[in-house]
Amino acid sequence: MDYTAKIQEIATKLLENGQVDMVIAWEKGDVDYQTRPFVARSVEDVARIVFDEYSVHNLANSLLKFRDGKEKIGIVVKGCDSRGIVRLLEDNQIKRDRLYIIGVNCPGVKDPLKAMKAHSGFVRNGQADEAADKCAHCIQPNPVIYDEIIGEEQSPRVEGERFAQVKEIENLPVDERFRFFEEAFSKCIRCYACRQACVACNCRTCIFDETRPQWVGRETKLSDNMMYHLVRAMHMAGRCIECGECERVCPVDIPLMAINRKLVKDVSELYGPYEAGMKYVEGQKPPLSVYNEKDPDNFL
Ligand code: SF4
Ligand code: SF4
Ligand code: SF4
Repeated sequence: MDYTAKIQEIATKLLENGQVDMVIAWEKGDVDYQTRPFVARSVEDVARIVFDEYSVHNLANSLLKFRDGKEKIGIVVKGCDSRGIVRLLEDNQIKRDRLYIIGVNCPGVKDPLKAMKAHSGFVRNGQADEAADKCAHCIQPNPVIYDEIIGEEQSPRVEGERFAQVKEIENLPVDERFRFFEEAFSKCIRCYACRQACVACNCRTCIFDETRPQWVGRETKLSDNMMYHLVRAMHMAGRCIECGECERVCPVDIPLMAINRKLVKDVSELYGPYEAGMKYVEGQKPPLSVYNEKDPDNFL
């Protein structure tokens, strides 16, 4: 199927009818292998919309820019992005009736940076892999919420054991486990790209931006970095929708999905079975946002 043509057709119809004020989609970037988020505000803009193998970004995150407005918004979502929409609806960040959701049954995407490296001529050892890492563990390629859907239904494509890396880390002796995280977090430059790309990181005032009081130091020393990742992990528990964007944008390759999958696994075992953002039920909240007398509390 020609996804681009179909999305352009739907976007034209929505903008012509005045059904939406904008359509959030992707356009081709300035360099090869780059496709980037794009907001079409008129029928003329629609010609710029594309959907191709590099439409990797989770566009649901873009809705946060419009959360205080009244505009009606058309938005194109893949399976993982659609779980981000559920995240925002559950978090009361946007109203369902402001959205017209164009779902794309997702055939999988490529990582632009990996693709640029692969075609740079500097990669040794033959064929470099361009597939986005998140797609190797995709449990939901088909949108879970939409007004219109395009493309053929896809099968989940979890390669190998979903929690293999998590179990490997869990099985390390305590001091080795600590060293694993020490090494990973000592590289963090606290650029906050992982926070900015995350649809679940949607607090209006982030604890890490506060200066009075300053909860966490601004230096990139290990203890402050650990504090950042510990707080973020606590805030993601039961809320991360596994879109993989945090890990993709990290400039120093910190294995953030190992942490996120540990959260997914623990929350599901303790409070589930549960997978965040798989279904929107009005008023429903993720497990750690509600209190139940039967919740495990042995640690208190
Ligand atoms: S994680 Fe799934 S839905 Fe998301 S881009 Fe990859 S294949 Fe598509
Ligand atoms: S994107 Fe990477 S380097 Fe930047 S704050 Fe997040 S973990 Fe640290
Ligand atoms: S923590 Fe990472 S994988 Fe989870 S929702 Fe945020 S960006 Fe996506």
